[in-house]
Amino acid sequence: MSLKVKVPVAWFGQGALVHHAAVVCEGGRVAYAGPSVAAPSADELLEVDGFLMPGVVDRHVHIRLADPGAVLLGGVTAVRDLAWVPDEIFELSSASELPTFTGPVIRAAGPMLTAPGGYPTASSWAPRGTGRELAGPEDAAAVVGELADQGAATIKVSLNSEAGPTPSDAELAAIVMAAHERGLPVTAHVQGHGQAERAVGAGIDEFAHTPWTERLSDLLLVSAARSMRIVSTLDIFSFGEVTPDLRTACDNLVRFREAGGTVVYGTDLGNGAIPAGIHVREALLLHEAVRMSPEEVLVAMTAGPLAVGGPADLLVLGSDPLLRLEALGDLRVVVRSGRVVSG
Ligand SMILES: [Zn+2]
Repeated sequence: MSLKVKVPVAWFGQGALVHHAAVVCEGGRVAYAGPSVAAPSADELLEVDGFLMPGVVDRHVHIRLADPGAVLLGGVTAVRDLAWVPDEIFELSSASELPTFTGPVIRAAGPMLTAPGGYPTASSWAPRGTGRELAGPEDAAAVVGELADQGAATIKVSLNSEAGPTPSDAELAAIVMAAHERGLPVTAHVQGHGQAERAVGAGIDEFAHTPWTERLSDLLLVSAARSMRIVSTLDIFSFGEVTPDLRTACDNLVRFREAGGTVVYGTDLGNGAIPAGIHVREALLLHEAVRMSPEEVLVAMTAGPLAVGGPADLLVLGSDPLLRLEALGDLRVVVRSGRVVSG
């Protein structure tokens, strides 16, 4: 069953704004994306007066603490889970690949690798197994191998010195080497003085949150901008208020971007009062406090351009988010794997 979605305007990705556009979905993939005059016919036609864009990707969630169905209905068609009990989350991740799954596509890190007694082993949000306590560099490398075999999308490391001990430098080096050998990136929860510097030094690929516990030096940010990207998660530092933590995070993020660094959208859904689905306030913070243009924000919120052969995950909004990002809260249609899930 193929589906054609016809709209007055579509944003397929950076620099690709098309008026009188159509997308044709077939077998869960995009078969056509371009001007509607040239679009092939389809079994079903959906004409919507709105703004079409790729589905939103949230790169930092704890999906077991949320309702996957509500996440999808809220416009988020893919998520990355950054810490949960491995057997449980990898099973859910496999199930989510089915186009009929009532939720977003879920990619997962599995547990957070940590030191014995380290974060999040004593955290109330984290069931037993959410933290994997390491017993030396060899064990660390073996755990990475295990997780890679189970289908981990990324490896998560806990560098939270405010909540307990952290893995040693030797363990970090072993984790990064083993992960990169398996083609997996390493993301780090960094909290406490000097931990961001350790992450950069160890060759870690990503900060799972914008560093918020200290002002990072320009020198460190220049170095980080070359080798790492940052998952934003700004709103969890203040939930709509302006706090010193939020100010520190935004200052670090602005200078990271000035140094050429890449920022992607993530909310840490499951942590506090973050709504399921697109979190408009996170997008607005990126625009207003980090000074990203609306188009830069949309790029950060999507996996890449909507293109032929790619997953048929798309949204139609009631108005143009390039003019007003608040439009991200005005969802008209959500399509996942070529299937309309709302609208
Ligand atoms: Zn998290």
